[in-house]
Amino acid sequence: MAAHETLALLGGNPFCATKLVAPAWPPINEGTGDKLKALYMSGQWSFNCPAEQKFARDYASYHGAKHGIFMVNGTVTLECALLALGVGAGDEVIVPALTWMATAMAVHYVGATPVFVDVEPTTLCMDLAAAAAAITPRTKAIIPVHIYGGMADMDAVMTLANKHGLKVIEDCAHMQGGVWDGRGAGSIGHIGSFSFQQSKTVASGEGGICITSDPALAERLYRAKHIGYAEGTGQGGAKTGPPADLVCHNYRATGFQAVILQDQLEGLRERISTYDRNLKLLASLLDEIRGLRLQSRGRLASPQGAYAAVVIADSDTIGQVPKETIAKALVAEGLNQGGSYGVVYKHMLYNMNPSKYRIANGRCPVAETIGTDRCFVLAHQWLGAPQETIHAIAGIFGKVAANADKLLSHQLASV
Ligand SMILES: *Cc1c(COP(=O)(O)O)cnc(C)c1O
Repeated sequence: MAAHETLALLGGNPFCATKLVAPAWPPINEGTGDKLKALYMSGQWSFNCPAEQKFARDYASYHGAKHGIFMVNGTVTLECALLALGVGAGDEVIVPALTWMATAMAVHYVGATPVFVDVEPTTLCMDLAAAAAAITPRTKAIIPVHIYGGMADMDAVMTLANKHGLKVIEDCAHMQGGVWDGRGAGSIGHIGSFSFQQSKTVASGEGGICITSDPALAERLYRAKHIGYAEGTGQGGAKTGPPADLVCHNYRATGFQAVILQDQLEGLRERISTYDRNLKLLASLLDEIRGLRLQSRGRLASPQGAYAAVVIADSDTIGQVPKETIAKALVAEGLNQGGSYGVVYKHMLYNMNPSKYRIANGRCPVAETIGTDRCFVLAHQWLGAPQETIHAIAGIFGKVAANADKLLSHQLASV
């Protein structure tokens, strides 16, 4: 059986003679190209043009929210969400330690203090017991992140938030099309924030959106991104001003992004159904392999969004092999998987003085170990691959795991 043959890294034949390739991302569609040209010729490029309005409405409604406020990226959406909710200097905001650092940076933008809490070893999303323990009289908001292919426990988030009067912003950058107990991702907290950056599952190069069903919050969000103008007022035509002290920006996106996103939204349900099927297949194949598991995805709905498939190697012999060695072995067998996040407060780009943030409990052991060193991340486009590819991916992981003892001694010999 192939699983017990010598690893390619150690001189054997690779599991796949030719490297596996993921389907291309982002999708290129000629019909979308024609629509972009039509928009260009129309001259209606920005200022909440009809293409933007339609997309914002449809995207919000897809996730079960009444209002969509379309912006330039999924970092300023978080900033505007905090502004709209009145979070500012002196406030603390609870964020998971394992996320893209935008989640924490947005808190700095408004002058508040991020408080990092640990994640669960299963879903890799915020550990709500750790969040509860991190609450102080200054805590104003909490930002659960639905990371990779998992959803944070939104029941526990809302119970905790209601008990302490906290505002909830769902960071759904990874959870387009996500569903929790029949409710759309981003529609459960006060505001949901999404990113359309090129790697995301609905993508326009750059872009982001906030969704909410609260009309007062929708108005504050809209004004915050449109330099204070209310929705429906053209440039120069302000009839009313923003609420006192709302810091407003120009974070407007354009119709060009909306046209690209609109077409992708049409196919989203079908695409995430495929992702969902392949994730379940991968999970069942990994079940047979000692030492490996798939990130657990929280309460499963069908179909369920996913930004990535995350294979976790944290037990048995493979659980002791350094991450870089495993990654090299995977590449040698024909699988080039991507990088994973580590904890935000150790990220090279997060160069903040420790007085500007707080790490609950002093450290976040799960995020620092499993989250940082044991995750192998396959970007979502892999989940659109044919089933043979999913079988090959599992086969490669299986072969590497079966040879973990040899990798370990190879590692020891080479240090
Ligand atoms: C991508 C991402 C963001 C930020 O989105 P940008 O559009 O790149 O600014 C925020 N949070 C998470 C978890 C992300 O992955």
